[in-house]
Amino acid sequence: MSFAFKIVSERDLRNAVHSIFLAAGVPSPAADLVADHLVRANLTGHDSHGIGMIPTYIHNIAAGELRPDAALETVLDHGAILLFEGNQGFGQVLAHDAMARGIERAQRDGLCLVGLRNSHHIGRIGQYAEQCTAEGLISLHFVNVVSDPSVAPFGGRSARLGTNPIAIGIPREGEAPIIIDFATSRWAVGKVRVAYNAGRPVPPGTLLDASGEPTTDPGALFAKPGGALLPLGEHKGWCLSLACELLGAALLGGRTQKGPRPSDAVLNSMLTVIISPERLQTESAFRAEMEEAIRWAKTSSEEVRLPGDPERATLATRRAEGIPVDVNTWAQIEEAARSVGIADLGAGDHS
Ligand code: NAD
Repeated sequence: MSFAFKIVSERDLRNAVHSIFLAAGVPSPAADLVADHLVRANLTGHDSHGIGMIPTYIHNIAAGELRPDAALETVLDHGAILLFEGNQGFGQVLAHDAMARGIERAQRDGLCLVGLRNSHHIGRIGQYAEQCTAEGLISLHFVNVVSDPSVAPFGGRSARLGTNPIAIGIPREGEAPIIIDFATSRWAVGKVRVAYNAGRPVPPGTLLDASGEPTTDPGALFAKPGGALLPLGEHKGWCLSLACELLGAALLGGRTQKGPRPSDAVLNSMLTVIISPERLQTESAFRAEMEEAIRWAKTSSEEVRLPGDPERATLATRRAEGIPVDVNTWAQIEEAARSVGIADLGAGDHS
């Protein structure tokens, strides 16, 4: 099925997003950071975690479930451990600031464990891996989600958990970093929303309907009662998802998913481990061994790509040609803009 979309330039989109958040009362530096994050998610091809999140954020600001003024609250700052409470503040801002603190500490001590708990939605996790690799640091991220349960445990017939993403960033000398970043469900919820808005089915093996039967209808996830996404890689995705729930949230004193959605908020807690290869004193051996391992893997076929390559390719194309936004998603963003007093966003061409 084909669907209509607009093509919007990076600059126009960024300005439009920034103006919506300013009109919603978000302080300018936070509005800047969130606009950059959301537009970069679209640029890298992760429309699920881009501007399509705006209606949720605007609704949650109005409902008092997203607190744009909340700054990072330090719970523990001891040696290589930093623990922060997010107080349902803007996730993109809190996670960025938490990473900046962790990066400083890992550069000093070689290692830092950063806990950020009870933040509002932090968006595309790969962004935080990119923040660490830009400083020559390795990072591992385990994240839980508290919202409408959307993923069935392996063997289950109804949703119990969120899409609990994992990310790993590995910097390379003179080459783009490896950025591994995915939900532990077959698809991210936002990708099902994009398919639903675009009128496209999801592949078989992705979703169960509300009675626990397989379906390709993305609407099944958003029905009342709703269906469930299946875990990535059968039992393996369920195992990783559980690790995100227990380490990403419970270990940090953050909230886990313990029943139906407790409020309209979309909460994330994230456990991050940042490692300095330089301070581990294996850096040159690590770099040489890594490049040989990558070279060997790539001899399998010219088709082999590294994690992070698809995002960089999409980013280059979308920077040059503009960002496609389906008209249903755009209409939802316009409605959110009108709710904060912006009558006309005015960006983009229909195609
Ligand atoms: P995905 O299925 O598109 O997988 C992306 C990962 O796979 C990337 O690391 C990418 O580089 C790699 N990849 C893709 N094709 C590849 C290939 N051919 N060869 C090598 N590597 C390849 O990701 P997803 O599960 O749909 O997640 C989308 C986004 O949603 C992520 O950015 C994630 O952080 C985000 N997310 C956020 C939350 C949240 O609560 N904040 C929850 C779930 C997902």
